[in-house]
Amino acid sequence: MTGSGYDLVVVGGGLIGAAIAWGASRTGASVALLDEGDVAYRASRGNFGLIWLQGKGVGKPAYMHWSLRAGRLWKDLAEELHAATGLDTGWRQTGGLHFCFSEAELDKRRDVLARSQADGGEITMQFLDRTALRDLVPEIGPEVVGASFSPEDSHVSPLYLLRALQQALQDGGGSYRPGIAVNEIRPEVGGFAVATPTGSVHGRRIVLAAGLGSARLAPQLGLSMPVEPERGQIVVTERVRPCFPYAANCLRQTAEGSFLFGSSHEEAGFDEGTQVATAADLCATALRVLPGLQAAGVVRIWGSLRVMTPDGLPIYEESSRYPGAFAATCHSGVTLASVHAFDIGPAIAAGALPAAVASFGSGRFDVQAT
Ligand SMILES: Cc1cc2nc3c(=O)[nH]c(=O)nc-3n(C[C@H](O)[C@H](O)[C@H](O)COP(=O)(O)OP(=O)(O)OC[C@H]3O[C@@H](n4cnc5c(N)ncnc54)[C@H](O)[C@@H]3O)c2cc1C
Repeated sequence: MTGSGYDLVVVGGGLIGAAIAWGASRTGASVALLDEGDVAYRASRGNFGLIWLQGKGVGKPAYMHWSLRAGRLWKDLAEELHAATGLDTGWRQTGGLHFCFSEAELDKRRDVLARSQADGGEITMQFLDRTALRDLVPEIGPEVVGASFSPEDSHVSPLYLLRALQQALQDGGGSYRPGIAVNEIRPEVGGFAVATPTGSVHGRRIVLAAGLGSARLAPQLGLSMPVEPERGQIVVTERVRPCFPYAANCLRQTAEGSFLFGSSHEEAGFDEGTQVATAADLCATALRVLPGLQAAGVVRIWGSLRVMTPDGLPIYEESSRYPGAFAATCHSGVTLASVHAFDIGPAIAAGALPAAVASFGSGRFDVQAT
């Protein structure tokens, strides 16, 4: 921290804010991470934990390449967080399976792969027919006709990831301050003042990474964050013997042994609630894949809100009115955690966003509207 405050203040301590804050602090910048706490909507605590690359960003090459880069940097992220904190994020590059229940679905997946290769996305991916799939997953249900498989997909415990990012920031000298709801941010000479209930926090630069809370705060910095909620529900089973190591589109087994079935995509406004009908659908799909799970008890269902932009792509932006003020959001904050830590955080600490994200400004929505 300098005499006049921090080099960087990050508002919002979810996966995006925490990754950027840690990434900036690793370069030697003094960083404060302010987070509202458990009363806020927090996708980072309610997500499915996939680092999913196959089929990502089809037709959107910049996003596809950004995601591929993120996936390939994840090993470094997991290792560096472990070295810094001693915490195992649970990251496992087991490969990911997208299950198909008909030949038509398999054809659709083949089309996705062909399109992503046409865009220059060199992801390792293969198609498994039922016989090949059974070699991988002997318990596979009779309705599954095949799957696409990428050895590059992986999964992680999102809660350990968040904890590791926060701890690494603190261990490296950064300040993590939960329980602070930011309502006012003022540009001032030499930086920004963030009003908190216990006084102002000053920073030379600022990053708005408050998820759904960013929409309200962004205009104070001359930024635009047109984000909306999209609900996802996830069903959790009791712990069962380890039998399915893979990441997959509709279920995964955690390191502790629970299965997660998910996740739904629903327009439900700001309602984080759960519904039996949705949970039943998620269970039914999971049982088509692994019928042996029908005896497993369900212990929990939760709903959580994704942070969605109008076109589903990230927003990374610096304010043209108040240089030094940045905003960041995306709907795959687990997958992109590595690039937020290794690319976005250091770049913002140095004063400008990296060229790779130049096409992700919110100005694209004005152009689209015109
Ligand atoms: C059901 C579901 C499944 C998902 N599955 C995956 C997946 O498999 N893989 C993947 O990559 N992504 C997945 N995601 C998306 C991922 O969880 C999000 O992209 C990511 O968590 C977004 O992080 P964030 O930090 O922007 O938002 P959040 O987690 O919402 O964090 C925002 C933070 O800002 C704070 N905040 C808000 N307002 C204020 C304020 N005024 N002052 C101070 N602090 C404030 C909040 O307290 C919160 O901690 C999923 C999401 C959901 C809901």
